[in-house]
Amino acid sequence: MIPFLDMKAVYAELKPELDAAFARVMESGWFVLGKEVEAFEAEYAAFCGTRHCVGLGNGLEALELVLRGWDLGAGDEVIVPSNTYIATWLAITAVGAKVVPVEPTPNGPNIDPERIAAAVTSRTKAIMPVHLYGEPADMDAIMTLARKHGLKVVEDVAQAQGAKVRGRRAGALGDAGAHSFFPTKNFGAFGDAGAVTTDDAKLADRLRVLRNYGSKVKYVNLERGFNSRLDEMQAALLRVKLPRLDAWNEHRRRLAARYNDKLAGIPGLGLPRAPQWAEPVWHLYVVRAERRAELMEALDKAGIGSLIHYPIPPHLQAAYADLGLGKGSFPLAEKLAETVLSLPMGAHMPETAVDEVAAVLRATLG
Ligand SMILES: *Cc1c(COP(=O)(O)O)cnc(C)c1O
Repeated sequence: MIPFLDMKAVYAELKPELDAAFARVMESGWFVLGKEVEAFEAEYAAFCGTRHCVGLGNGLEALELVLRGWDLGAGDEVIVPSNTYIATWLAITAVGAKVVPVEPTPNGPNIDPERIAAAVTSRTKAIMPVHLYGEPADMDAIMTLARKHGLKVVEDVAQAQGAKVRGRRAGALGDAGAHSFFPTKNFGAFGDAGAVTTDDAKLADRLRVLRNYGSKVKYVNLERGFNSRLDEMQAALLRVKLPRLDAWNEHRRRLAARYNDKLAGIPGLGLPRAPQWAEPVWHLYVVRAERRAELMEALDKAGIGSLIHYPIPPHLQAAYADLGLGKGSFPLAEKLAETVLSLPMGAHMPETAVDEVAAVLRATLG
């Protein structure tokens, strides 16, 4: 039995510290916007290498509130990957702006900077690159383009906490980084949680207002805000995990290297190939195969978990039927949706499990 992801391992590893953090918050009697969130924000900003971090309710709202913080809305266009999780698109349409999807590089997973230039119009206000599967998007090229056209850039860091481009962390590469701490992410909370990292003091200040009913001073409402606050319990628990994140990501890197080694040369199997300048954190290890259904069945029979990220691209979802982007609109994203397969991966997965997974794939395709 190899689970796709072991969700109990972190508690087993850190029980005394997590229990102590839990007790500290319970005994404080203070649960929303307090010392734990403040401390977490300082620690996570330092980790990412940004001046500010604002703790929020979840990753989707982190993306959305950045756009609201920049006053984006109806009539504005935001460039977004055609190949992503639907949350990236939802943040844009939530503020009333228009999604302008751009295809990934040929084997994916991330947005192709060369195709971004062609998608820029006079209404384009921002680019929202996603570091999908923990692999950084080509931020050097994206930032060059953005500066040339006067566009804002908000990174979707949901799958890439700790990843780097030439030594700098994801979340510190654009104008703002939106993070999700959903439990399955590399840096997951024990419930919903999120944050924005940025060097922009004005944006950080606005986010603090937006997350708290539009107010800085209790019962004085400067604008129509939201309720999207990282809570004290999640902040306290995340503070226990943060010092381990780099080591956990290092373990994921070892697993990925072993997958690359053990899966090399299997016919009909495309392996992930991160660019030289990128330091991915392997949120997911995703292969491509035309015979995906057979592989999943063989893995399932062997007691090995596997998943598809993602089976239907956003433009083909019923949620976006009104955009009229039918099948064939984004062939690269559609092809990836038909062929991608995520293999077991996680900070607590034994390295030898990789060999078992690889053996099943080789026996099936080999
Ligand atoms: C998980 C995820 C989100 C949303 O985060 P939530 O905390 O679940 O709201 C956004 N974008 C991507 C790429 C994600 O994987």
